[in-house]
Amino acid sequence: MRILLVEDDELLADGLARALRQSGYTVDIAADGPRADSLLAAGGYDLTILDLGLPGLDGSQVLTRLRGRRQKTPVLVMSARMAIEERVRLLDLGADDYLVKPVALAELEARVRALIRRQLGAETNFLTLGSLRLDREGKRAWLGDEALDLTAREWAAIEYLASRVNRIVAKEQFMQALYSWDDEITPNAIEKFISRLRSKLEPAGITIRTVRGLGYFLEKPEGHDHDD
Ligand code: CA
Repeated sequence: MRILLVEDDELLADGLARALRQSGYTVDIAADGPRADSLLAAGGYDLTILDLGLPGLDGSQVLTRLRGRRQKTPVLVMSARMAIEERVRLLDLGADDYLVKPVALAELEARVRALIRRQLGAETNFLTLGSLRLDREGKRAWLGDEALDLTAREWAAIEYLASRVNRIVAKEQFMQALYSWDDEITPNAIEKFISRLRSKLEPAGITIRTVRGLGYFLEKPEGHDHDD
């Protein structure tokens, strides 16, 4: 999952980004309104965390432009100044949720999970596919009763594909979801990464297919419907 964090307070931005990355999200930071606007226009974000007081364009202008382009990326507004009329105005402009600063990290992460769930149409933090079970809150995965030993990025990749089961994820989109601009990443490295994932999942009948020229998808397991 790729998040754009728009925050001009460098210390706060770095702290939040570090915490979100530890939870397996890919995070890009924009420190002013125009930068946020152009990154959002380019697309590829699963969620935006948007501060209101920003240089260049303020947060509500960035939000207005985003929705003016009919982009549906969920937006979590974050601000210290938040009178009721302001909250109402922001929700009416197309914000999905808001948090009043100073933000509690646990609450921020819970709201991020809730918005991503809503976007994916999932009701809970748990996702089961055949013998694969994911806990989006605990960032853990199991195959049957056995906990999978995964890196943060592997976890993020499995969650990304499992949340879009049987849907092809373009290689470009997959790379965007998992790597930030600072990461040096080649198509070859992605192939290696995918094959490592396969070796962890295939023994349990979970298959990641490659569609040549298009991308990847996680195949819905057949005949593995556990009702527990
Ligand atoms: Ca600010």
